[in-house]
Amino acid sequence: MTEAVLTLNAGSSSLKFALFPARGDRPLATGLADRIGPEGTLKLKGRDGQPVAAAPGDLRSHAGAIRAVFDSFRGQYPDLTLRSVGHRVVHGGVSHAAPVTVTATVMAELEALAPFAPLHQPHNLTGIRAAAEAFAGVAQVACFDTAFHRNQPWINDAFALPRALYDEGVRRYGFHGLSYDYIASVLPGEVAHGRVIVAHLGNGASMCALHNGRSVASTMGFSALDGLPMGTRCGQIDPGVLLYLMDQKGMSAAQISDLLYRQSGLLGLSGLSNDMRMLETAETPEAEQAIDYFVYRCQREIGSLAAAVGGIDALVFTAGIGENSRLIRARICARLSWMGIELDPARNADNGPVISAAGAPTTVMVIPTNEELVIARAARAAVGLTEQEAA
Ligand code: ADP
Repeated sequence: MTEAVLTLNAGSSSLKFALFPARGDRPLATGLADRIGPEGTLKLKGRDGQPVAAAPGDLRSHAGAIRAVFDSFRGQYPDLTLRSVGHRVVHGGVSHAAPVTVTATVMAELEALAPFAPLHQPHNLTGIRAAAEAFAGVAQVACFDTAFHRNQPWINDAFALPRALYDEGVRRYGFHGLSYDYIASVLPGEVAHGRVIVAHLGNGASMCALHNGRSVASTMGFSALDGLPMGTRCGQIDPGVLLYLMDQKGMSAAQISDLLYRQSGLLGLSGLSNDMRMLETAETPEAEQAIDYFVYRCQREIGSLAAAVGGIDALVFTAGIGENSRLIRARICARLSWMGIELDPARNADNGPVISAAGAPTTVMVIPTNEELVIARAARAAVGLTEQEAA
């Protein structure tokens, strides 16, 4: 019998998934169901990362796609027994500081949070419903992007707004928590208990200050818009701009949402692309300014987060840009020597893991993130498959 847990990341028309064994860090298979609907596609990779043929299936709905995924896995592992499914869920609200097994009550609670994350939460919940339908009786475990930050001190949880808004949930939730959780779990001993700033720089980008492995402050706030500029999101913005757009330009909430989530950030500044690789080679003044702005905002946030935790022992880069762009890492670090940050160019060119110069006071590292593994660990734990047994 092959016991396994499945991780699912459900978007509006896509499902990213990974099948993990009951023990061990390497998935048995991974894949993507895309364009769920009449033109749906399903791509699978096996344990070695090589493409594997997918079973024919009905890709018109999330439930159909999940079933097709599982049938494909069964083709590879005929004696497969699914113990649990772990779901990436963007919002766990005020109360969830850890993963939770989904019951009807939990589901109702998560549905009520949809207004806090209207672009993602409903799709994540569709994934849970679809998996519950496809695998009756199998535990569904919700893993939240917000959970890792829930024990931040009040001062980093609040906005200076009337109290009643805080009480109804207008707080700084922070996101990318599954990524930070993973990084915290693999920090080397000498820095694990120190003050570490993690820069998750992907299409979505944020930073988090850790002390002793726990989140103290982060750049994202109530929504995934705040903090750093991103591929298409604006990052930090003066709320007065939004008032101007509403009052003077008559823009609706939907139009402003589209502007801030989809047309801003690197794309908006460059007028060219949200893709850092493309901007690095574009050589237009606007692309250079977009990169300048991104780098500058990263530097400022690192300074701000270091102030929040009273210093810095290590800086960790992760996600697409953080893991791969030696140029952006070098440019961010170039003006941080006052924080003891000094890169070794050869190590930086090799993408780490340690990229700081020998003897530099602050350790700088590149650590590839692994959000799926954090979800798989939670899915295992929920059904009593402990990591101790895995060791
Ligand atoms: P998401 O937030 O969608 O998961 P990723 O973590 O995959 O995004 O990051 C995507 C970003 O990483 C894109 O801007 C992409 O251009 C950038 N990226 C990936 N590889 C490189 C590279 N070699 N050099 C520069 N940027 C890169």
